Amino acid sequence: MTTQPPVSSAISDELNAPLQELREKILAGERAALAQAITLSESSRADHRRQAENLIQSLLPHTGQSIRIGISGPPGTGKSTFINKFGLAIMQQGQRLAVLAVDPSSQRDSGAILADKTRMLELSQQPSSFIRPSPSGKNLGGVARYTQEAILLCEAAGYDVVMVETVGVGQSETMVAEITDLFLLLLPPAGGDELQGMKRGILELADIILVNKADGNLLPFAEQTADEYLRAINLFYPRYADWKTDVALCSAMTGKGLNEVWQKIQQFVAVMKKAGAWQQRRSRQREYWLDKELQEQLLTIFQHDPAFSGLVKEIHQQVGEGGVLPSLAARQIIAAVLPPLLISKKLPK
Ligand code: GDP
Repeated sequence: MTTQPPVSSAISDELNAPLQELREKILAGERAALAQAITLSESSRADHRRQAENLIQSLLPHTGQSIRIGISGPPGTGKSTFINKFGLAIMQQGQRLAVLAVDPSSQRDSGAILADKTRMLELSQQPSSFIRPSPSGKNLGGVARYTQEAILLCEAAGYDVVMVETVGVGQSETMVAEITDLFLLLLPPAGGDELQGMKRGILELADIILVNKADGNLLPFAEQTADEYLRAINLFYPRYADWKTDVALCSAMTGKGLNEVWQKIQQFVAVMKKAGAWQQRRSRQREYWLDKELQEQLLTIFQHDPAFSGLVKEIHQQVGEGGVLPSLAARQIIAAVLPPLLISKKLPK
């Protein structure tokens, strides 16, 4: 078997002068340049995509140093309030914070985005913060790619903590847990019924569960809720030998418990790094996303390359009508498409 040269060395396109300049500005931590690069990576134009890939590939040696935190929870739990207060608290300790919002459903109007921004107003006014709303009109795969690239760009621009907030509900939690180092679930004080309705899968994703609004009249409910979650997670099989999902109380409104959250996060990072699980999680995630990219890019070739799209459409129709088994049809398409691909692109046999 012949050994292939590393893919990175196959990137022949030198960065052109404007991209080189953009790269330097990102490395210097300029927020406008960072925003411009993220916009480039969100673009669906093929030439933009190529430029974004080359730019981010060239920045890879300057990435990876941040703590990537996913944060999720039902609407109204206090995510925006939490991020604002928590962000200000950790920035006082010298951390630079980037916040990326993820919302694959993204039919949100500008009013909703504005409301979020208002709650994060103080944060957005800080020179050492960067806040980016979710791109609109992208599917889950598109958002996953964009968010991972945005994380890398934020890291190249020197951010120490990157928070990825899920704004929509549903599948996005799993996706966010697959692109971050730590998944933080923010939950409201709730009665037993709501706990029952809480999807077990989401609880299992959490590295830290925070019951918010532990203040005023809600405090006893928050305490009771935290106890219930603690009992619930005790039934799960722990994901890491050295870390058991932590349950804590906080109030994003008063700021109570927020310093403790930061301590817990640092504790998690230390434990995971010591056990080697930190790099393992990142490596596994990168490989997972490579497979996802392969699936998506191959599907795009099958569906849009004029050489095969007619055939694929025809077989699609037959499957739709119920006459052909999907797995058999997929094999037929691959058999029809792959040989010409192998010849035309001279891929290794
Ligand atoms: P999100 O939809 O999860 O982003 O939630 P928001 O941050 O928009 O908060 C929803 C509502 O809960 C707002 O009215 C907040 O003022 C309120 N809220 C947020 N955090 C707290 C808290 O710690 N305690 C109390 N009592 N209310 C809070």
